[in-house]
Amino acid sequence: MSNINNYLTENRERFEQELHEFLRIASISADPAYREDVAQAAKWVDGQFQKLGLASEIIETDGHPLVYAESPRVPGAPTALVYGHYDVQPVVPLELWTTPPFEPTERDGKVYARGASDDKGQMLTHIKSTEAWLAVEGRLPINLKFLIEGEEECGGHGISQFVEANRDRLACDCVVVSDSSQFAPDQPAITCGLRGIVYCDLILKGPNRDLHSGSFGGAVANPANALAKMLATLMDEHGRIQVPGFYDDVVTLSDKQRERIAALPFDEARYIEGIGVSALIGEEGFTTLERLWTRPTFDVCGMWSGYQGEGAKTVLPAVAGAKLSFRLVPNQDPPKIVEGLRQKLTEVCPPGIQMELVVQHGGRGVLVSEDSPYTQAAARAIEEAFGTPPVYTREGGSIPIVVTFCEALGVDTLLLGWGQGDDNAHSPNEKFALADFHRGIKASARLWEELATCPTKN
Ligand SMILES: [Zn+2]
Repeated sequence: MSNINNYLTENRERFEQELHEFLRIASISADPAYREDVAQAAKWVDGQFQKLGLASEIIETDGHPLVYAESPRVPGAPTALVYGHYDVQPVVPLELWTTPPFEPTERDGKVYARGASDDKGQMLTHIKSTEAWLAVEGRLPINLKFLIEGEEECGGHGISQFVEANRDRLACDCVVVSDSSQFAPDQPAITCGLRGIVYCDLILKGPNRDLHSGSFGGAVANPANALAKMLATLMDEHGRIQVPGFYDDVVTLSDKQRERIAALPFDEARYIEGIGVSALIGEEGFTTLERLWTRPTFDVCGMWSGYQGEGAKTVLPAVAGAKLSFRLVPNQDPPKIVEGLRQKLTEVCPPGIQMELVVQHGGRGVLVSEDSPYTQAAARAIEEAFGTPPVYTREGGSIPIVVTFCEALGVDTLLLGWGQGDDNAHSPNEKFALADFHRGIKASARLWEELATCPTKN
């Protein structure tokens, strides 16, 4: 490894220049005005792979193209699939940027530009580590496949269609993604869990038109009253969700996992202050991080009914509705949760009200074993590069492509974030610390060697 580390040190400046070059491309995927720039970013990534001698191609989709590359075959060695994205978020409001978003500028050891952290800078670490191996050793210790998309920030489906249609081509032992954050500065993390989701609209219908609340109130079921009452039955005073079978498949935390979460340097007072609330709530018997990462939730995301304007209008509304989100944890099954919810709501729906439950979308949670050989290989690589072992965290949100990799390819995804929580991803003044860029490259170079010791399906 020392020759490779020397190569990384000798080439630091060039790597930074190349990052700047990549960041100057305004690859905003959501805005059709930037279509050419997005295509140019795909070409830039493809060019990187071509220079390394990888078999690389640009694959057109219904939306923006994918870039796919494979390293020369190493028989018998494990295969890692590296995922990342070359597209970026829009940059408005422009006036809040200290320097223009597509003119990368260095201040205090950080490069400021749209995409610096999310995800151009992080993704590039895996290309540069591959370059180092090929330049110094003339070979890689494992097989690498790269799948880099241009629609991550605009909700395109090109990649999931491609993954589902190319299972054999993408076959691998694990997926590697660097598109997230360390737990804190100088505290790298491996994200081992993501929550899933069920999202529904609940629509209640009463009389055939809005009625006079004086003339009809008291004798006719009010959909708004019914909605409030029905939603209130979904959670008890201990924060437990009252849907039949809801907790049946929830994976309980082991003592070791609870200890690991409890040991994290989480500043609850600062968290409370940051969101401007007076107290935190949640399911009894669990800490805040456990509630956020490892327990399922129920939240009303929107509600509407009746009169919303100025002053008073004495109306008994004909319709009421709510948008409901259930964050799920492994191994909860979205269709089973919807079925239980429908059963519960039907039971508590009062006479005189017609109920409709419309499912918007659903996806399973993901759990990666902290003790799997791949996770442990990543932990050793990170410790070597960052000088400190990673902590094992989870994420309360969902990353749909990780579920696709899990379901279509049957493999775990290693979520190795080199960024920081305050990198301003999606905000003005996005940045990426150059120290994190270089540590990320070093960790990645070491990761290829560590993964070579892991079992393979080959
Ligand atoms: Zn991203």
